[in-house]
Amino acid sequence: MQKTTKDLKPIFKPEVTALRAYSLEPHEASIKINQNENPWETPEKIKSETLSQFESHRWSRYPPFISSDLEERLAAFAGWKPDGVLAGNGSNELIQALLMVTIAAGKSVLLSEPTFMLYRQVATILGGDVLTVRMTPDFQYDVGAILEAIELNRPQVVILCSPNNPTGTRIADDDLRRILSASSGLVVVDEAYHEFSKQTVVPLLEEFDNLIVLRTFSKAMALATLRVGYLLGAPESVMEIRKALLPYNLNLFSQTAAKVALDSYDSELRPLVNKILAERDRVFDEIDALKGFSPIPTTANFMIVRSELEPKVVFDHLLSRDILIRDVSRYPMLERFFRVSVGTPAENDRLLNGLKELVS
Ligand code: PMP
Repeated sequence: MQKTTKDLKPIFKPEVTALRAYSLEPHEASIKINQNENPWETPEKIKSETLSQFESHRWSRYPPFISSDLEERLAAFAGWKPDGVLAGNGSNELIQALLMVTIAAGKSVLLSEPTFMLYRQVATILGGDVLTVRMTPDFQYDVGAILEAIELNRPQVVILCSPNNPTGTRIADDDLRRILSASSGLVVVDEAYHEFSKQTVVPLLEEFDNLIVLRTFSKAMALATLRVGYLLGAPESVMEIRKALLPYNLNLFSQTAAKVALDSYDSELRPLVNKILAERDRVFDEIDALKGFSPIPTTANFMIVRSELEPKVVFDHLLSRDILIRDVSRYPMLERFFRVSVGTPAENDRLLNGLKELVS
């Protein structure tokens, strides 16, 4: 059979063909500290309780249209109203849904960079303009510059990640209030790492209709495999964003596990968060004491480190020691940086040894 070859490129939006897919190179290592996950395995109690609760479900039937039971539990856990909650297949899905219902050609998203790359990726695919403001040289939010950009461009959406991936820095509540007041669009605060900062902007939902908070079960909640995230906002916004979700977006097994994890947070997960925080402070101090490496103070379970050596050299050396970190040198402002997630104490010792080998 003769194959007809067509030029497929013109079919796709030029914004899309110019992009690279959002994915990581497929490196593998026993010590995986490149994705800010919980280094501890999901507690056994959460796994066994989820399996036993799931046993009675019929696999041949659709789950409920809206996971209202889970959304009620999420509302109680977060301290917000059930009709202001949306559960998703990871918080990534909710970022996408939110941008789908707000962004198109002629609309804009304002980001503070460096930040999580996916926001730019999705907004670009949707044909929107991505406006950016740089963080200050010490990686704080440049609130003056953000306010100026809002006034000048009136973006439909402002996205602030707090604690920010990859810098680990938070936005102060009063600064966020000024941004919320100045903005006529939605202001999204991605709180993927809030448990590690022990702070949240959820109370500001009572004050501002245009605030949206995103959260995930992929980090402190130790369920990255199961893909669960949630969004908190004004019920009117939630009603619109829900329209962009596919039916049954969140499978029933993940819904079940998420409910069990919520019930077990205090007894099973919070102690792991506290262990990670103690290790974070130890790792920070030990890296700080090494010549040629300067970690940036962080409120999350990861840190960026300024390196006198090329980040790629550090990455390759650690990979040769079976340790996978993130080379963030392609992010704006981070040409000389790499990022490490906090691992278990044994993993952190291996990281510290690997770094010491480079400077001795
Ligand atoms: N937001 C931020 C800031 C993240 O760093 C990540 C994961 N790297 C996500 C969202 C994605 O979370 P999820 O697994 O819930 O899609």
